Amino acid sequence: MRSEFGETSEAIFLTSGYSYDDAETVAARFRGDEKGMTYSRLQNPTVAMFEERLRLIEGADACRAMASGMAAMTAALLSQLRAGDHVVAGRALFGSCRWLVDSLLPKFGIETTVVDGREVDAWKRAVRPNTKLFFMETPANPTMDICDIRAISDIAHNAGAVVVVDNAFATPVLQRPLEFGADIVAYSATKMLDGQGRVLAGAVLGSEEFIEGELLAFTRNTGPTLSAFNAWVVLKGLETLDLRMAKQCENALSVARFLDARVPRLLYPALPSHPQHDLAMAQMSAGGTIMSLFVADGRRQAHALLDALTLVDISNNIGDSRSLMTHPASTTHAGLDETVREEMGVAESMLRLSVGLEDPADVIDDLDRALCAVGL
Ligand SMILES: *Cc1c(COP(=O)(O)O)cnc(C)c1O
Repeated sequence: MRSEFGETSEAIFLTSGYSYDDAETVAARFRGDEKGMTYSRLQNPTVAMFEERLRLIEGADACRAMASGMAAMTAALLSQLRAGDHVVAGRALFGSCRWLVDSLLPKFGIETTVVDGREVDAWKRAVRPNTKLFFMETPANPTMDICDIRAISDIAHNAGAVVVVDNAFATPVLQRPLEFGADIVAYSATKMLDGQGRVLAGAVLGSEEFIEGELLAFTRNTGPTLSAFNAWVVLKGLETLDLRMAKQCENALSVARFLDARVPRLLYPALPSHPQHDLAMAQMSAGGTIMSLFVADGRRQAHALLDALTLVDISNNIGDSRSLMTHPASTTHAGLDETVREEMGVAESMLRLSVGLEDPADVIDDLDRALCAVGL
């Protein structure tokens, strides 16, 4: 969308409000009889450009931008659930997503069951008469568990439930859950969609009925709105998303092949050593930018490996153009009980690596040196 100046790069509309030619115009907009902006908690031209572009990439009917990935997950769940409903979730989830399921929803009288998301039958067994929603992350952070989106969506629909997929790891470039039967896709756009570690952002996509109905009612009144500036940054990120994904997936595959032969255990969906390799490759067009590797000797050795890196940064973020590594058990998943972590598969010996745009030979050199330094 261009202003009267014909700019090639989209304008940033940093405005909270709008003014009108006459009183009837604003009244018509508030009645919903006339399209147009009224207040940036409700609509903003720059945010709308981001929403439209992501909607087209995803192939969804509608999209609503959010202030962060967690704002997107919270809105996608709370907007359509009520006390007495039941939710089934894959147990391997991003730490804060798991907190929503374990702590927030039950506080409002919503029952939750977590299952091993890899086992299709486990989803089926968890269904109750009041089951309203299935929530999954695939590949999951950081265990790289894969959920069979089509089979699980069939179970949900037979039970009258909707399916929400957190697609942050794959992005719409590698995996489009709606094509496999999911109803709603939610993103942390902070990750690959921005891709350069600059801003927090999120989005929820799905049917026009849901996005413009329940979700819009929830977000316009509770306010988890994306700022115009952050929308502009992520909008620019989307222009290079497919190029960055292609290159970073290629780099990640090289790094994964090196690590697979070198560390006690590696989880990367594009390698046959991943226990769900075939399913992953049936749903995703490449392995993604993230992998989890295991050292031999728990947290001590994992932390020592991080400290020995020079090119790869120690960071709990992912999806950056720079390679980043973290120890999930002491960072992103530190807030969970040790038993929950173990049951999820977040081991003390696990490290998560997000591969960036550097020359993969340099990343491999850095890893090689750090592994030698810790005796691996
Ligand atoms: C980072 C992340 C989130 C949370 O997103 P924020 O933008 O940090 O709020 C949710 N799910 C997954 C899988 C993530 O990686």
